Amino acid sequence: MRAVTVSAHSRALIEPTFSHLVGAAQTLGPEVGELAALAGLPPDPEQQLVLDQVFAFERDGSPSAFEVGIIAPRQNLKTATLKMINIGWLFLTEERLVTWSSHEFKTTVEAFRDMIELIESTPHLDREVKSIQRGNGDECIELFGDRRLLFKARTKGGGRGLTGNKTNLDEGYALREIHMGALLPTMAATPNAQVVYASSAGMVDSDVLRGIRDRGRDGTGGRLAYVEWGDPNPNVCQGEDCGHELAAVGCALDDMDRLARVNTALDRRITRDTLRAMRQAMPPEEFAREFLGWWDERATTDTDLSAADWSALAGSAGPSGRLVMAVDVAPSQAWSSIVACGNGVIELVDRRRGTSWLPERMADLAERHNVDTFAVDPVGPVGGVLPELERAGLPLALVDGKESVRACGALVAAVADKSLSHRGEPEFLAAVGGSSRRSVGDGWKWSRKDSTVDISPLVAATLAHWLWLSRAGEPITPDIYFV
Ligand SMILES: [Zn+2]
Repeated sequence: MRAVTVSAHSRALIEPTFSHLVGAAQTLGPEVGELAALAGLPPDPEQQLVLDQVFAFERDGSPSAFEVGIIAPRQNLKTATLKMINIGWLFLTEERLVTWSSHEFKTTVEAFRDMIELIESTPHLDREVKSIQRGNGDECIELFGDRRLLFKARTKGGGRGLTGNKTNLDEGYALREIHMGALLPTMAATPNAQVVYASSAGMVDSDVLRGIRDRGRDGTGGRLAYVEWGDPNPNVCQGEDCGHELAAVGCALDDMDRLARVNTALDRRITRDTLRAMRQAMPPEEFAREFLGWWDERATTDTDLSAADWSALAGSAGPSGRLVMAVDVAPSQAWSSIVACGNGVIELVDRRRGTSWLPERMADLAERHNVDTFAVDPVGPVGGVLPELERAGLPLALVDGKESVRACGALVAAVADKSLSHRGEPEFLAAVGGSSRRSVGDGWKWSRKDSTVDISPLVAATLAHWLWLSRAGEPITPDIYFV
């Protein structure tokens, strides 16, 4: 037994930004690292640190850590570390039942295939394989001597089937209370049980992961071993009030030194060019979360918009007075919605598949209802059809990023103080129920991508309501640019 950390790489450990470590005077980490290296996966110093923690044990032989939390930017170390840990559990400590779950089925199957490839390419490990079961949700690698590694997608099985002697919870940002409620009590009854959480930084609704983070960061974790690589100053750029746009000067998202401190695989498995390309391709908030480790936080003023509160505002009156309208388009331009607002009443005027119907329908509405402005969020998918709408001579108000954030806050505030009503459209209710948010500065915006349904009716309602408010002489300064 050695307490010394060995590594195939000579470079120094990049210390985690936040950590809570268990004593690892006695650990099988080095042996697991060597086994992983044999299988073609030599651990980075950061990965070795995790292995030393997972495989640390007490005098009575029980694991020192019951929970292990690994938070790191995408494509750096998480999944490979899980593979190393599982090699250790299967082939070194010889666990009877290990489960590996991800949020999505696709990721789960990828992990399954990777583990098979890793094992099959290593004769020393491959000869211990008894059978491999491939099936839609029943993926399993079975070894001689009653050892199994089961793969589960949490979207498919809810909280069922996650338990084992050892449990991997990948894509930890998507963990929900229902999973933990099903898992933890069964693990408490299992001797030497361990659960490993792996994730990139959490989203607004990552409550389970946020709880683990808070215990890990403030050292109240007890038997939680916690390591997090993430920029410690979220939302702090050189320019005050930085919007993190591509053109922003002194933005943290372009600061290679800051990125290098948390992307532990930079210049080896991940290149600076890759990071720059990701920065170009991804929305700034997403890039910051996935590659700088900035958590999406719930704004303090953020009140939930519940389906019950929304339903309570249904009425029979339609919009009246001076009408404004807004248009929104779903990702991949799958759906488009037009919403009207007048006199504090919103109404879904039309929602159909695709976008080709928009110009004609909008022109018709503009003429028949004397609509002089359609609000749109130009950075959303509607941006793709803007040239067409402009060519059709439609009057558009482009609502910029900061205005969109205010519009979202205004809609939720209007629901809370009941200054808004609608006509009970099921499309609105479905969108409210399936909507997700992402934080932007001190506020938030609807996240079309993270929502589970088409939220174009809700986004269009938010924009129409905002445009109507700004026209109704409310004490809000509109900052809307007309084309
Ligand atoms: Zn910035």
